[in-house]
Formats: sequence, C-alpha cells, structure tokens
Amino acid sequence: MILILSLQSYFLSRCHAYAIRTKFIYVCTTCGHRLGRHSKSLNTAKKACPFCQGKFELEPATSDSNTSDKSTPMNKFAQFVKENYRSCRTPGTNHGDAMKLLSQKFAEAKLSTI
Ligand SMILES: [Zn+2]
Repeated sequence: MILILSLQSYFLSRCHAYAIRTKFIYVCTTCGHRLGRHSKSLNTAKKACPFCQGKFELEPATSDSNTSDKSTPMNKFAQFVKENYRSCRTPGTNHGDAMKLLSQKFAEAKLSTI
C-alpha cells in the first residue's frame, strides 16, 4: 500500500512535466496515472496501466476540442491565469481554490474593461 502510494505520488509529480510538454494526456481511469503523448497514438484498448492494469482514457483537450470557438475567451483566460496564478496560489490555497479565485477575478476584470 505504501509502495503504491509513493509510486502514485512519484508519477503525479511527474505528470506536470508531461502536461507541459505533450499535447495529449491519457489518464488511468482507476488510479489516475497519467501518460503524456504528442499525438493520439496510444491504443487505449490495448494499453493497460502499469500499476493497476486499468484502462486509459484520453483527457479532454482544453482548447482543441473547442473548435467552434477559436477566437477565444479561453486563451484570454489562460493568459490571465498565467499572469495571475502566482498571486492567487498562496500557501493554504489549493489549485482548485486558486482557479476559482482566478475565474472570479477574470470575470471582474472583463466587466471593468467593457
Ligand atoms: Zn492505473
């Protein structure tokens, strides 16, 4: 159990590097282990999680799946997050809270500029 947990945290910490460098992320539906791929090359029917033999699923892409709306509040928001994430991610604030705060701030900033 301890071994599994430490392996998970090892790979969870590594997944951030994947998230930055690769376009597609496959996530184990059972244990959450993540695999990064530069293309949709992973055969999810055949490839099993090395830790729990679970199935991989392609994590929904943040922008690519949204082809109908390319001009993009999402990119502006991503930019906003990039610029303001550090100031919102204070000790004691987790990623989810920081993102909530950022989306609030983004909405306010948007209102004030219109
Ligand atoms: Zn797994």
